Amino acid sequence: MQQLRCYGDDRNKGFCVHCGGPSETVDHVPSKVFLDEPYPENLMAASACRKCNNGLSLDEEYLACLLECVIAGDTEPEKLHRAKITRILRDNSSLSARLQRARTDGAEGPVWAPENDRVNRVVLKLARCHAAFELNEPQLQEPSHLGFKPLPLMTEDERETFERDQDAFDVWPEVGSRAMQKVLVAGTDAFVEGWLAVQEGNYRFRISQANGLTVKIVLREYLGCEIVWE
Ligand SMILES: [Zn+2]
Repeated sequence: MQQLRCYGDDRNKGFCVHCGGPSETVDHVPSKVFLDEPYPENLMAASACRKCNNGLSLDEEYLACLLECVIAGDTEPEKLHRAKITRILRDNSSLSARLQRARTDGAEGPVWAPENDRVNRVVLKLARCHAAFELNEPQLQEPSHLGFKPLPLMTEDERETFERDQDAFDVWPEVGSRAMQKVLVAGTDAFVEGWLAVQEGNYRFRISQANGLTVKIVLREYLGCEIVWE
């Protein structure tokens, strides 16, 4: 993936995009636990303070492992598809046990009880990084809406609304932002599908500014997330 230099102003560079604290670290989006090697070149990144960047890494690891267990229908490391997650769960027996406890066997196969507060924090972190990096619009305040739902549980209407945008020509990026440069470099074709796949099967996202700022993310082609700042 080509990383475009940001010609926007420095609003989102001097501070942590999550809490407004000091800019001490580079926060990759998505974090590498959601991606497999070889990583895409020039991963996007935003500024973060050490506390925010490190503080969320266990939650991110948890979510990446949970998704893998849900998709495989199992917590046994050798049954999982992503080698990285197999390694993490082999080395981390307490996380492995925690995921096993989250599983119940229902009539139609296993069901999983996610720790929603942890999923919430990760989804918000990813959305804040995208908002800051793509649009030069850091969103320190709480979003007006944050939701996530497995794609297979969405009704056909929900899925259709989720996948497309309210308005076909909905991206009006700020001049100088990376999204604007993508429009200039690639023409509007870059946004016909609307989704940008960071790594096929693992992570895609889209941003719309039709009504406020909406970030949509799909993790592992399983979990659809939507975050809105009105
Ligand atoms: Zn911070």
